[in-house]
Amino acid sequence: MRTLRLILGDQLNIRHSWYKQLDPNVLYVMMEVRSETDYVRHHAQKVLGIFAAMRRFADALQSAGHQVLYLKICDQQNRQSLSENLKHIISDKQITRFERQQADEFRVEETLEQLASTLSIPVEIVDSEHFLCNREELKEKFAHKIPRMEFFYREQRKHWQILLDAQQKPLGGKWNFDAENRKKWVGTPKAPDWPIQAQNLQALWDEICSAGVKTMGNPSANAFTWPTGRQQAKVWLQYFIQHALVTFGDYQDAMSTESRTLFHSGLSFALNTKLLHPLEVIQAVVDAYEKQLAPLAAVEGFVRQILGWREYIRGVYWARMPGYQTLNGLEHHRPLPSWYWSGKTKMNCLRHAITQSLETGYAHHIQRLMLTGNFALLAGCHPDEVDHWYLGIYIDAFQWVELPNTRGMSQFADLGLIASKPYTGSASYIHRMSNYCDECSYSYKEKIGDKSCPFNSLYWNFHVLHESKLKNNPRLAMVYKNWQRFDSAEQEAITQQANHHLSNLNSI
Ligand code: FAD
Ligand code: SF4
Repeated sequence: MRTLRLILGDQLNIRHSWYKQLDPNVLYVMMEVRSETDYVRHHAQKVLGIFAAMRRFADALQSAGHQVLYLKICDQQNRQSLSENLKHIISDKQITRFERQQADEFRVEETLEQLASTLSIPVEIVDSEHFLCNREELKEKFAHKIPRMEFFYREQRKHWQILLDAQQKPLGGKWNFDAENRKKWVGTPKAPDWPIQAQNLQALWDEICSAGVKTMGNPSANAFTWPTGRQQAKVWLQYFIQHALVTFGDYQDAMSTESRTLFHSGLSFALNTKLLHPLEVIQAVVDAYEKQLAPLAAVEGFVRQILGWREYIRGVYWARMPGYQTLNGLEHHRPLPSWYWSGKTKMNCLRHAITQSLETGYAHHIQRLMLTGNFALLAGCHPDEVDHWYLGIYIDAFQWVELPNTRGMSQFADLGLIASKPYTGSASYIHRMSNYCDECSYSYKEKIGDKSCPFNSLYWNFHVLHESKLKNNPRLAMVYKNWQRFDSAEQEAITQQANHHLSNLNSI
């Protein structure tokens, strides 16, 4: 009996039970393939980071005595597709059993299921032992009605016994400290940068380029900063706890030209490639609270992101795929403005967030939601375009987490399955939460005229256009009431201004 075990690029969980025993009859297979680099145009750092982490993982397995077959992107025998490589290896190495972990992306799961149906050897699919919720149970639970995240999160707190008192009540008397997490950041306390442990990945980058992979953004190959190994990822986690956790909650929604990271952890890449386990991250921040190193509001806010949002989003994905990826409930059809790929816009907030994304493969949640996402929504861009952009540009983008966040939370294309109202904001929101408007060609105060901030007229135009779908939403009652406060001439001028912006999106 000779078993092939497939390890995908986002399955770098060295603590998986597969690796507990050395077995000379098991061959681990890992591969860098064009079918994975080309399904969307990825950020250069995403391709580099995943391949570098895969190579380190393969080395670690080999050093531990496991047998590994690793196909590099430029290897001549690489057939550049998961299925074709697997078929060849199975026949070449006389494999009699194929085992794999559940794939997190629907596309990959489908490919591997199709492959299995053509094989004449036994196939076993095991859990990736990473997530906190079982996928089949989540699928069933979310099949008919998607619960609000808050209720799901409370259940998870109880299930995992996180931040509860002896009576099973939430510590501090409430489940959610979000209301305390909305401060603007004006430069103090100083925002820590992430730990810089730059690696030189130039040789790997040369291989990627010579294979002809097309990417976007700055590769930063000479000084690559994202963690590509478990030890490095653990250093990031400790660094976050020591330097940023205390203020994570306070400035969670803040944005600034003076700091790319503010007090965010930057752990999404390490989590999504499974270098870190979500429970070890949660436990580490809860320990910090118990040692009085961080306040409850900050710790609860952070736990909610991982125990709540991350697991919830995955549940929505698996309960609603494949239909979810084509939803376009607001019937938006415009292309994304061309400056989403260059950052060349006069709008300071978007210029900053997009340039930073192209430079680093990272933007924090509110930049994604309330800048790039908000603008694409107000401008009526097609959710397919928006999805492709998000799936490509961020180092942490894997479809199971990107899609519900983008199409659902940010573009409202599911008409409210995830968000109880569209996440829209005018310039006053961006001004309140950032310093972007201080040095912008546009004026955040104006709705009409050449200097008027496009977010303003587009905000009103969006709500007017979608009145039939949104007006009965109680959370939007105030928006429609305020619209009625403008006289008809003002309403007409705002609509005209919005249409002017919409006709000139590429030069805005
Ligand atoms: P922190 O702010 O430090 O949060 C800690 C962790 O919580 C994150 O690392 C992440 O694992 C988890 N988390 C926080 N918010 C979410 C959320 N809404 N959904 C799932 N997990 C969450 N996250 C991805 O991991 N991959 C994506 O492709 C992705 N695409 C997004 C697209 C849009 C339009 C939006 C609005 C959000 C998206 N997110 C995505 C969620 C979130 O923005 C990122 O997880 C976060 O910015 C990563 O940075 P961080 O590690 O510094 O997060
Ligand atoms: Fe962004 Fe408008 Fe503020 Fe300029 S004025 S930074 S475009 S919100």
